[in-house]
Amino acid sequence: MTGSSAPIRLRFAPSPNGRLHLGHAYSALVNRDYARRLGGELILRIEDIDPVRSRPELIAAIEDDLAWLGIEFAGPVRRQSRHLPAYRDAVEMLGSRGLAYPCFCSRAAVISAAGPDPARDPDGAPLYPGTCHSLDPADRASRLAAGLLHGWRLDIGRALARVPGPHRFRSLDAAGAETVHAADPVRWGDALIARRDVPTSYHLSVVIDDAVQEVSHVVRGADLLASTDLHILLQALLGVASPAYRHHSLILGPDGTKLAKSRGSESLGDLRAQGVTPAEIRRRLGFG
Ligand code: GLU
Repeated sequence: MTGSSAPIRLRFAPSPNGRLHLGHAYSALVNRDYARRLGGELILRIEDIDPVRSRPELIAAIEDDLAWLGIEFAGPVRRQSRHLPAYRDAVEMLGSRGLAYPCFCSRAAVISAAGPDPARDPDGAPLYPGTCHSLDPADRASRLAAGLLHGWRLDIGRALARVPGPHRFRSLDAAGAETVHAADPVRWGDALIARRDVPTSYHLSVVIDDAVQEVSHVVRGADLLASTDLHILLQALLGVASPAYRHHSLILGPDGTKLAKSRGSESLGDLRAQGVTPAEIRRRLGFG
């Protein structure tokens, strides 16, 4: 990278599916401090591809909580829901190159086709058993012509034949020391790159946005470490640069599990309502 004039840019990229909690605050603060240490800028991206769970009032609350915490962002905020055509184009491009195929299966159909004790992806979902991969081409064409609801899956076999690797990414620790980390995308199987309800998925949009926004360093929780393996492959297939990655430790709840709104973790909104100050939150998270 010596001599490169690429900007140093980090991003905080919450999904507006609920209010932010302490885990988000920690990640945003780690990003802010790391951007300062690297002399770069921090941008905000709202990952609102889920048409049901993403709500405008939650986006406003996220921006308000971050401002309350004292975190400032450079440039305009990118909202993924405003860029669906760009994601659709990428899916079509991968499809036209034979690297992705339409999948008509519902989640329930995948679970039932996968059988009682399936191999699972790093998120714990059954690996796709290939139902729509082996569809007869005429059957596939007639389903598409009939307008049947479908998503798109990466053909991992063809993808790895196209870019055999070895796949690797640059991994940074808290002190900024860089190591090379081996990526193993095959463990995601034929991953869904476009859902049935939106023409994209978390994995595809995050890769496209990190490229479009010229993110040089992705700093996010260790729960997304395995996702990086798939992101590296998607970057290679799309012909975009790979950022460096830092996967920070997670803030755990009293029961030792990851904080989540669904498990009743206190939100920053709850803490604010109790009179907790931003300085107390920062101190609690180790940002004296
Ligand atoms: N939107 C994701 C989340 O809220 C984070 C994505 C990322 O940092 O890559 O969990």
